[in-house]
Amino acid sequence: MKVRYFDNAATTKVDERVFEAMKPFLTSEFGNPSSIYSIGRETKKKVEDARETVAKCINAQPKEIYFTSCGSESDNTAVKGIAYANRQKGNHIITSKIEHPAILNTCKQLEKEGFEVSYINVDKNGIIDLNELERNIKDTTILITVMFANNEIGTIEPIKEIGQIAKKHNIIFHTDAVQAVGSIKIDVEDLGIDALSMSAHKFHGPKGVGALYVKSNVKFNKIIDGGHQERNKRAGTENVAGIVGLAKALEIANNDIEKNAKYLKELRDYYIKSIEEKIKFVKLNGDREKRLPSNANFSFRFIEGESLLLNLDLKGICASSGSACTSGTLDPSHVLLAIGLKHEIAHGSLRVSFGIDNTKEDVDYLIDSLVEIINRLREMSPLYEDFVEGRYELDEM
Ligand SMILES: *Cc1c(COP(=O)(O)O)cnc(C)c1O
Repeated sequence: MKVRYFDNAATTKVDERVFEAMKPFLTSEFGNPSSIYSIGRETKKKVEDARETVAKCINAQPKEIYFTSCGSESDNTAVKGIAYANRQKGNHIITSKIEHPAILNTCKQLEKEGFEVSYINVDKNGIIDLNELERNIKDTTILITVMFANNEIGTIEPIKEIGQIAKKHNIIFHTDAVQAVGSIKIDVEDLGIDALSMSAHKFHGPKGVGALYVKSNVKFNKIIDGGHQERNKRAGTENVAGIVGLAKALEIANNDIEKNAKYLKELRDYYIKSIEEKIKFVKLNGDREKRLPSNANFSFRFIEGESLLLNLDLKGICASSGSACTSGTLDPSHVLLAIGLKHEIAHGSLRVSFGIDNTKEDVDYLIDSLVEIINRLREMSPLYEDFVEGRYELDEM
């Protein structure tokens, strides 16, 4: 069966050109960048070229870019590294309630180590409350970390405004931009960002490689101890092929950023419009305007996300549910709860994240499949029957 992939927020397919760029470093050009003979120096040069490319794409200096093993490592290094290095100034960190677990669980760990963390609320569209953010700043606040765009509902946060607040109070500002890099133009200078995380596999690069930007005047401690790689900030032999792949993928994504965004928005808006026309009792989660070009997240009343995903899988469709049942917990997504959804509504959610490989025909297939599956599941639902026969009142979503 043909597989139709609508889960580009989970991971993306490596671009053919990226794979070609990586190949030599998995075969003939295998030198260790720390070695002083020529095949080592050559790979070192490629890593430095990649650093320059990445820096240019976000308007940073090459010396402000550190390569890591993934987005999660970049997040850990930024939050823990900055917290530890600035401990004498204070122990207070501000974040949002809708961060990725790589940030939330890092903050929880820091709380166990004596740091204090404030988790700021978001509105019903997932946009952070800037007044609450500023009200929570105290003398001991050393770091604000707020994601650029949310991985579940696609909401884009007011990054420039947060940067201005951070600057006004002389606080370091980190953003988890794993969902944004490669899909939104980012200028760290203009946006007032002091530290930023990215991950190659979210923009058609390979898995297992990420990058962290840290502004040159910001102190942070290393998290991985060992050799002197990455200017003594991240030990471990460089993942040369991965780093080359990350830079190539970012360069391609950045060059095509407007064209791709336009294409993805067309698919997304067509999907959103069709679902709202063809299926009753649905709610679009996330902000209609301030949202990633690729993301559409709907809650379907009287539906279990789990059964929806399984039925879509039978039709060769890959998507993701707002419920975290599959990952071993029965709690619905913390993001959907933070935007005010009730548990049972959050459970019936579906995240679709489009990619440049998707066609309009793919989207039509997705829409038709959803209409059919949702009608069938609702017909089987006792709750839906109660509702149809008037024994159950529909409350606000
Ligand atoms: C995917 C993702 C991460 C984690 O990146 P990995 O490279 O998979 O570790 C962190 N934050 C956000 C917002 C993500 O979407």
